[in-house]
Amino acid sequence: MNNFAYQKAADTSDALHKVAQGTASSFIAGGTNLIDLWKYNLVHPENLIDINGLRDYKSINKTEDGGLLLGALVTNSATAYNEHIVEKYPLLSKAILAGASAQIRNSATNGGNLLQKTRCYYFYDAASPCNKREPGTGCPAKEGLNRMHAIVGYSEDCIAVFPSDMCVALAALEAVVNVNGPEGERKIPFEDFHRLPGNTPHIDNNLAKNELITSISLPKEGFAENYSYLKLRDRNSYAFALVSVATGIKLKDGKIEKIRIVLGGIAHKPWRVTEAEDFLIDKEANVDNFMAAAEIILKGAKGFGDNDFKIDLAKRAIVRNGMMALNPESQRPGAQPSL
Ligand code: SF4
Repeated sequence: MNNFAYQKAADTSDALHKVAQGTASSFIAGGTNLIDLWKYNLVHPENLIDINGLRDYKSINKTEDGGLLLGALVTNSATAYNEHIVEKYPLLSKAILAGASAQIRNSATNGGNLLQKTRCYYFYDAASPCNKREPGTGCPAKEGLNRMHAIVGYSEDCIAVFPSDMCVALAALEAVVNVNGPEGERKIPFEDFHRLPGNTPHIDNNLAKNELITSISLPKEGFAENYSYLKLRDRNSYAFALVSVATGIKLKDGKIEKIRIVLGGIAHKPWRVTEAEDFLIDKEANVDNFMAAAEIILKGAKGFGDNDFKIDLAKRAIVRNGMMALNPESQRPGAQPSL
């Protein structure tokens, strides 16, 4: 590790002032990903700004429009077990608890969850070339070990996936990311927060330099009646998703009135295809219709060898999760889908 300066921020303006000093500055909150990256010699912050003292971002509050405001510094655990989240946004609670380990969730913050880096093996190996770590050096994953990698939304330069579970649910809920920075406050719709790799895979999201995530807004609709989060992985705990699906449904007279389907583990950002959701409106929620929607969502999907299996797995996961969403009881540990 390199030598670095460590400073505690007293409030938002102090944090924004301190982070602007020097070129290699970084905020730190839970630190669960930053410290990993640092120990692997992948980042070298020289000016570390501890924002854990910013009390304004440590609570979860109801908003006047019937939604909820999640402080960026609330831990993932506190969010998952918050009474309002459990009652109104159980999809989010379920997704958070599918991620990482209890110890990590107790330390990781909501803001940090959005900013975590890909877990591509080559990205974490400082001896390997990697366009995301060092632009222009190449992407060994395309011809190498790519079991965990993308099947949609990738580019010639990078086929990595975004690893978060929480963000898959936030995308389904159409959350909004609230940020503050040198140019003032702004709101970023969740679908615009993370980026596809294109020819700039080193840029993961649309947060500007020295901007700070302050909170996440959830709209009124939480899909609390019919929801499901399904995570398929190599082992049942402490593993990243091969494929995950967040589904929220509103039913009316036995037909689908509103639906959100978002996939994780298959792209550089949570993957949502609104064309598939539109297709399902006013249709019955059944296996055939979910399979037709899955074909739309995976249209054009292509594997790189090791990860070819993900295409069929993703389609089946969409169908299974859609059916599980019809029966909230299916969210109990060990419950089986009613296919
Ligand atoms: Fe690097 Fe992306 Fe290729 Fe992985 S997939 S080696 S992160 S460029």
